[in-house]
Amino acid sequence: MEFDLIARIRDRAPSRDDVVLGIGDDAALLQVPPDRQLVVAMDTLNAGVHFPPDTAPADIGWKALAVNLSDLAAMGAEPAWCTLSLSLPSGQAAFVDGFLDGFLGLAARHRVALVGGDTTRGPLSVCVTAHGLVAPGRALRRAGAAPGDDVWVTGTPGDAAAALAALQAGAAVDRALRVRLDRPEPRLAAGRALAGLASACIDVSDGLLADLGHICAASGVGACIELDRLPASPALSRFKPELRWPWQATGGDDYELCFTAPPAHRDAVAAALAATGDATATRIGTIDSSGEVRARRPDGTSWAPAMQGFRHF
Ligand code: ADP
Ligand code: MG
Repeated sequence: MEFDLIARIRDRAPSRDDVVLGIGDDAALLQVPPDRQLVVAMDTLNAGVHFPPDTAPADIGWKALAVNLSDLAAMGAEPAWCTLSLSLPSGQAAFVDGFLDGFLGLAARHRVALVGGDTTRGPLSVCVTAHGLVAPGRALRRAGAAPGDDVWVTGTPGDAAAALAALQAGAAVDRALRVRLDRPEPRLAAGRALAGLASACIDVSDGLLADLGHICAASGVGACIELDRLPASPALSRFKPELRWPWQATGGDDYELCFTAPPAHRDAVAAALAATGDATATRIGTIDSSGEVRARRPDGTSWAPAMQGFRHF
């Protein structure tokens, strides 16, 4: 069964000119341009942990690649290649076909070639590596935020967490929110546009405050977020602020970019993002030297979430 599945994958996998050797040999051969650094990221999706058990195969495929491309976006890299390790309970061709619809649909949008992988029998699990390119010295890192910098976030955080909360409560899930949980859009063009403007950047996978905390730890700074500045989508705006703030500040799975930039770059950041058409960004707070991440209500009182963000262990 393994060989049939690999043939199915190979027959549909897109390639690129810089793939010297793709699926079918012992390893792939990829041509890295002489003036670029290779950027490599890996993320795993486990059934029941990273997606609800009823998730459609095409959505699992999309998300498996999206979360990896999101890591490249957060580095300001241009995506190029990926590999795919599939662990499947049985050799269901229908699952693989649906999975590939989502996975390869997203790959085609960003000109990413699937160049290899591994196919095994076991509990449903998907591991992807994404490979991208960046000019030397241009990658966005978690370190680099300085006191006085603005904190920005792209898009509207909280939608995915709101969808997950409804699912877990057994309630009807708003379609617009569910799409944001199942089909996150990696902010690749936005990430590339921020090179040279942002002082630090991360993608929001575990929750805004938790991921901003990673920027602060790497940069040796703190931050304060104004809750009333968190942009809410139309679907999320229907919830009272006190109800949606925990989703927006601590919910995971948004895959928006959280980044910092000096106030002198405000106009340039807005213009660079507008030019991409990928995502707008909102200023939500300020970097300080406190060493911790805080959030404030509109009346200035500090707000502490019940949980800072998703942790596996
Ligand atoms: P090996 O035993 O040498 O690891 P495999 O049978 O695992 O070979 O894989 C054969 C070829 O198919 C390799 O080029 C591998 O990269 C590719 N491949 C296997 N599984 C996948 C997959 N899920 N997605 C993409 N390529 C795959
Ligand atoms: Mg193998």
